[in-house]
Amino acid sequence: MHRKFWLSERSRHLYIAIAIALLAGAISLLKPLDITAWAIQSRLSDRDASGTIALVEVGAYTDQNAAEENRHIASLIRKLRARGATRIFVNIPLRESNLPSVDEELSRVLSDNLDYVYVAGANLPEQQNATQDLRANALSFERLKGFDNDVSQDFLRFVWTIRAEGDGGRESLAFALSRSGQKRTEVFIDGTIDSTSIPRLNQGNFDLAIDRIDVPDTAFVIGVGQLGNELRVAKHGYVTNSVAHILGAETLLRGTGQRVAFYVLPLAIGLALLLGVWFARTPRIRRLVYAACVLAFVSVFVGTGLAGVQAHFADTLLLLTVYASLRGLVLYKQRHLYIDPITRLPNFSALRRDFYASEGQGNQGVVVVKILRLDSIFAHVSEGEKRAYLRQVSDRLCITGKDTKIYFDGGKYFAFMLDGAIDYESHLSGLRAIVSQPIIIASKSIDVAVTVGADFSSKGLPAHRLSSAIAAADHAREAFQPVFIVSDACHDDEWDHSLTARLAEALAEDRISIKVQPQVDLKTGKFVAAEVLARWQDQAGNEISPARFIPQFERMARLDELTGRILDKAMAALRSLQDTGCVLPLSVNVSAVQFVDDRIAEMVEKSLRDYAVDPSLLKIEVTETARIEDFETARQIVERLRSQGITFSLDDFGVGSANLEALQRLPFDEVKIDQLFIQQLAGSCKTRAIVEGVLHTTSRAGMTSVAEGIEDLETHTWLSSIGCDRGQGYFIAKPMVISQFRNLLELNRDVMSRPDYG
Ligand code: C2E
Ligand code: MG
Ligand code: MG
Repeated sequence: MHRKFWLSERSRHLYIAIAIALLAGAISLLKPLDITAWAIQSRLSDRDASGTIALVEVGAYTDQNAAEENRHIASLIRKLRARGATRIFVNIPLRESNLPSVDEELSRVLSDNLDYVYVAGANLPEQQNATQDLRANALSFERLKGFDNDVSQDFLRFVWTIRAEGDGGRESLAFALSRSGQKRTEVFIDGTIDSTSIPRLNQGNFDLAIDRIDVPDTAFVIGVGQLGNELRVAKHGYVTNSVAHILGAETLLRGTGQRVAFYVLPLAIGLALLLGVWFARTPRIRRLVYAACVLAFVSVFVGTGLAGVQAHFADTLLLLTVYASLRGLVLYKQRHLYIDPITRLPNFSALRRDFYASEGQGNQGVVVVKILRLDSIFAHVSEGEKRAYLRQVSDRLCITGKDTKIYFDGGKYFAFMLDGAIDYESHLSGLRAIVSQPIIIASKSIDVAVTVGADFSSKGLPAHRLSSAIAAADHAREAFQPVFIVSDACHDDEWDHSLTARLAEALAEDRISIKVQPQVDLKTGKFVAAEVLARWQDQAGNEISPARFIPQFERMARLDELTGRILDKAMAALRSLQDTGCVLPLSVNVSAVQFVDDRIAEMVEKSLRDYAVDPSLLKIEVTETARIEDFETARQIVERLRSQGITFSLDDFGVGSANLEALQRLPFDEVKIDQLFIQQLAGSCKTRAIVEGVLHTTSRAGMTSVAEGIEDLETHTWLSSIGCDRGQGYFIAKPMVISQFRNLLELNRDVMSRPDYG
């Protein structure tokens, strides 16, 4: 795990979700949702009431019928007592009526049954509220046992809980009815209790109904039977105050109606999720943990509903929603923002993110593989073939390791991370060779030319290292340095910021020189030509390879200038050789990227003119032909120069930088087989077969063949035996300065002109 597990992104998302849920719970933000949840819970089951609490319904009091009601209440108490009732709760605001004799009668009944009758708000004559309109002065309450019938309602007038005591410290009707003796401050009304199963007695059914009741064990609540729209309980809608209290009492009798503090469920689910996130090793297990948490949540919902326990769900739901949204956002980003839509591979934004995340995990390097000439390839294939091509390239890159994640920038760069502990140089060279095999799509063979850039340095931000790897892939040159690696050990001039300035200086001070490397006719052994190679000795006297500084000139957009200088030097050399009468054609290297407009042609023509050199003495070796995008323009430029007698050579044939397409589309006079093949001739019969094939092709096409990089006699002998026209390499001669070359030619001429030669 790359980061401390409790600081992972998922953990952070959970902390946020838990904090938001607790905050919402603390300020009861989602009370309406909880109310809805409790209302749903009340529908989960239907339970009958215990039957030990009965409601005796009386009419509603008005000023006109107070005497009648008082008389009715007195008669009810008497009747209930006569049947043996011991607990009669008068939950009705007793009022003084206009008939004192009736009030006195009620007073008498009450005082005769002091042990059995409980009166709402008794002994609290000062208490005044809507449900207790006491006119106590006419009735003597002082000695009666009382109860509190107050309820608290929410904004929708729902009653959810009943407190154990009213504001005055008097026991509430629900608690008094249940005689539960439970040390609780309130009860949550169990919504599953069916209010219609509460035994009800009224004027019409009194005698019949009371027979069915075990009177001594029953508590009777004398209360208003008619609804006055005063309060609501879940499932039952509007009910009277007495029914609400009876439901509360029934809940207490069941032993339920407890409240779970608002923070318990969010904390429990939050903690379970956290543990899951911390310890789940695979996404599958994590998903199982998520499912288990959701299941637990639903179970708690159903369980508490059935048990008649009040829990808060909205906050937990909020927690789950916030967490799911945050994760969903990440997933969305991964799916859409971090994924290339064509290949479905993670893109470079994903790479940057992963690279940052992998910081501190050993020395991870980043490798960028650049596909060359992708635009011209894609100009001729269908969308499906493009996708297949890119997928095949990415599959090949997977050879690095089966767990390697390949990223694609949507353009021409692929990338992946690689452990810096391995021998990455040879690994990447091998990988490049594998990736460079042609790809077969719909029976078409499509070339793959790639350069590889990598950054294995230990310094720098991941984003900078990725840019440096991209730059390295850009700077890598198919022909002479296809894999370009930036590392701590490499204080490469390419990466030295002063290089540009030093190159500019070298041009200004004309410190770029040339060497020539002779070529021989492999049949006769005679020198027949020479290749001009650029050389730069910096002020410290170090010779810098053209493989290093030519790409830099290209980046500085001064490659034409350099070519102009080299051409002039080559022409000057030809001039001087012509003057000594010992002259051979010289080949000058020109990068294919310069064949995009007439400038190169004009430059060559001017140089030939300036030095008055015979154009047939100049050969142009075109390097990096794989980078040609507009063959038609390139062909026109080549034709223009060829018409003046200049010949053309295809350099580095066989490697990715020069391919059959270039050979077929441009009118070359000569093909130079890359030294990569020549140097492997001795050890590989496959390479020998390939070279034989190339030689056969060139001779059939009427072109001269040149083998470059001959380093030993064996190779030299084999090449001449197989019919290769010309050879170049250290075995024949190393690159040398012009004066040495002139001496060599003169010596050669003298030797050959001796009568005994041959
Ligand atoms: P190239 O045109 O393929 O040149 C041949 C390279 O192989 C030269 O390296 C040469 O010194 C080297 N070489 C010759 N014989 C042998 C051998 O027997 N064994 C080995 N191992 N190497 C041998 P150099 O001079 O470092 O040039 C590298 C490349 O730089 C050239 O490859 C060419 O692509 C480019 N280059 C050189 N001069 C110029 C120039 O004036 N303009 C342009 N555009 N490119 C140039
Ligand atoms: Mg060359
Ligand atoms: Mg070459």
